[in-house]
Amino acid sequence: MPTPNEGDEVKCLYCGEVHKLAKLEAALGVFVCPTCKVSTQYTDKGWTRAVWTDGRTLEELCNRCGHCCYEKLRCNGRVYIFMRNACPYLGKDLEGKAECSCYESRLKNQSGCISLYEAIKSCILPITCGYRVMFPSDYVPPKRVNSLKDLHI
Ligand code: SF4
Ligand code: SF4
Ligand SMILES: [Zn+2]
Repeated sequence: MPTPNEGDEVKCLYCGEVHKLAKLEAALGVFVCPTCKVSTQYTDKGWTRAVWTDGRTLEELCNRCGHCCYEKLRCNGRVYIFMRNACPYLGKDLEGKAECSCYESRLKNQSGCISLYEAIKSCILPITCGYRVMFPSDYVPPKRVNSLKDLHI
């Protein structure tokens, strides 16, 4: 079964319209129909599984908890997030939600900042992350800790 590519034409399973696949959608294997807003996931059987149906775009799945913007350490096959060590670009908006002060250039500005696709692949998103609907079944979420003392190694 070929993997999806940017620009592929995908027929929505729900409204039947055909749309071109965006780059992020191709990388994640998720197609958000711009007409009916139902999202389907690419599996080994093709575009089959509805993952969310409430009309949110990929970006809107993020609940802006900011937990992916803290220092991470991989140890004995497990990822740990250090909740005391935030990225210097991490701030809060007026509603208290996490906000990146260099969002457009974040991947250039901050070496520890990675794309959503890489973040899912490398298991650095917590189980409370809004993207969890796309986690593979063998996903091991990171543990949130405050200091090195909290690592059970
Ligand atoms: S640069 Fe990356 S890690 Fe830092 S706040 Fe922005 S999105 Fe988060
Ligand atoms: S952990 Fe997930 S929900 Fe929280 S800010 Fe990061 S991407 Fe968004
Ligand atoms: Zn549709």
